[in-house]
Amino acid sequence: MSPGDYGAGTSESMSAPTIVVAEDDGAIRDLLAHHLEREGFSVIAVGDGQAALRTARRAADLVILDIGLPGIDGYDVARTLRREERSIPIIMLTARVDEIDRVVGFELGADDYVCKPFSPREVIARVRAVLRRSGTTIDAPPALLQFGRLEIDEAAREARIDGIDVRLKPREFALLLELATNVGIALSRERLLERVWGFDFEGDERTVDVHVRRLRAKIEEEAKLPAMVHTIHGFGYKFIRA
Ligand code: CA
Repeated sequence: MSPGDYGAGTSESMSAPTIVVAEDDGAIRDLLAHHLEREGFSVIAVGDGQAALRTARRAADLVILDIGLPGIDGYDVARTLRREERSIPIIMLTARVDEIDRVVGFELGADDYVCKPFSPREVIARVRAVLRRSGTTIDAPPALLQFGRLEIDEAAREARIDGIDVRLKPREFALLLELATNVGIALSRERLLERVWGFDFEGDERTVDVHVRRLRAKIEEEAKLPAMVHTIHGFGYKFIRA
């Protein structure tokens, strides 16, 4: 953990959306983190713009971004994320009720804003609404996914070909689930590392390649000619409905 990070959430569930709370006021930050965690979200709380940018670039599902942050302010964090064409939903926190903040917030591509003082309940309602709009599933039931002969059973943490368990290791299963719940979407090695191994994993991105190789050997008809787990050279992997 680096300076500016105030600790990750306690909920480690694979399906819990991860929310970055970027706010330098410790009381507000803790209040939001507490309420979001109680609602089942995974929370990463940070206190400055650099940390906000760094965590938002990783595998977060949504950023709650205070405008008045030390270092890089909230405007510049949002501007930078949008310039990098990251579509991560952003909810801006502003202490100023005036119109300019709001307009600028939307010009920056923020998805919503909340004026201080706010009630945590209001923020959580906004978070849920924005996540729903962005297509992030909340409290989704376990997935049972079928791709031709391959069946992925999240409840049983099992992948089957023609009904027979292919005996994936836990990380292999988590990797497959992450890929298969994002059909057609290229996922970077970095994102896969964060999602499957967690934010504090110290290993390098080749770990992903090694696990993809093992996964392919178990689920692909021809591991050398993968029909489902495609390599995106210099980037990562994409799951294709074979
Ligand atoms: Ca502030």
